[in-house]
Amino acid sequence: MQNIFNFSAGPAMLPQEVMQQAQEELINWQGLGTSVMEVSHRGKPFIEVAEQAESDLRELLQIPSNYTVLFMHGGGRGQFSAVPLNISTSFDLSQHLVSGQWSIGAEQEAQKFCRTSIVATSKKIDGKMYVPTQDEWSIAEESGYFHYCTNETVDGVEINWVPKSASGNVPIVADMSSNILSKPINIEDFGIIYAGAQKNIGPSGLSVVIVRNDLIGKARKDTPAIFNYQLQANSGSMYNTPPTFSWYLAGLVFKWLKAQGGLEAMAQLNLRKSHILYEQIDATGFYKNNVHNDYRSKMNVTFQLRDESLNDLFLEQAESNGLVALKGHRAVGGMRASIYNAMPLAGAQALADFMQEFERKNG
Ligand code: PMP
Repeated sequence: MQNIFNFSAGPAMLPQEVMQQAQEELINWQGLGTSVMEVSHRGKPFIEVAEQAESDLRELLQIPSNYTVLFMHGGGRGQFSAVPLNISTSFDLSQHLVSGQWSIGAEQEAQKFCRTSIVATSKKIDGKMYVPTQDEWSIAEESGYFHYCTNETVDGVEINWVPKSASGNVPIVADMSSNILSKPINIEDFGIIYAGAQKNIGPSGLSVVIVRNDLIGKARKDTPAIFNYQLQANSGSMYNTPPTFSWYLAGLVFKWLKAQGGLEAMAQLNLRKSHILYEQIDATGFYKNNVHNDYRSKMNVTFQLRDESLNDLFLEQAESNGLVALKGHRAVGGMRASIYNAMPLAGAQALADFMQEFERKNG
């Protein structure tokens, strides 16, 4: 089989070594004669997997002991609802920074549960997408919590600074679905971090929530039990049957990350991969990227062809060269190369080489 580099935005490619291990263990896991999917989540073998995954994640992200890690159902959007249900009343105000498709989605969902306001929205300056910094926001009233998305998967916009809460103790809630584990972060900057798994963690069906303990136990009464942080924390994320296979696979990914040198090593690799692509995009004007330099994502590299009539040919030829899933999200068009942790340097290089060759033939 030809070597395939899969640039899917999510579900996204997983590390090859992890997939190989999962394949080897699939039918006969730990000599039990069954797969990990077929054993009780309450039995010792699975509990060990679950605990090890949490402890490896804590080590990778250096999560302090006053934060609880939850492995929940419902992906990123599940948390769009769970966050307001757990930490706001219907009278509270949630404030939102809107930097693209996913942060507006979170704000719209929060409207069902509390009052919301938008402190600022990304805008184009000289044709480049830019996110207003905190000194440019308008804040009329103190809020119950502040929400933003650290990496906009669709738009290719990544925010590298962390907002400071206006009053000093407004919890900062971050949707890190598409850049968690891509670089070191300071957990203490945040009240809640959440991420759907299917980009940088493992298969879909799982969301990881990292929540500061003082924010647990405030859920409104009508919060669905499986979304209640307190119930999930009290039961080790096993109030109901968790997505066991996704949890197991996430655990293998965490081990793989540790073996690669952890998040410092990942940050360097991700910088190199994205640099290779942006350099190619900027080279001549045949390709363009419409995100301000400070906000260019290291995970989702979006680009357009100057001559959009070449889009189909580009995608077709990329695919026949083993470079798949490069079509941009339907909301923004163009191309998008998602290069999460599992994408090797060789994948980014192969795409840059192809882009150069395509330009030579069609420029
Ligand atoms: N937030 C971000 C940043 C995302 O990229 C996505 C999915 N692409 C979501 C939220 C929604 O995740 P899910 O489909 O798991 O609900």
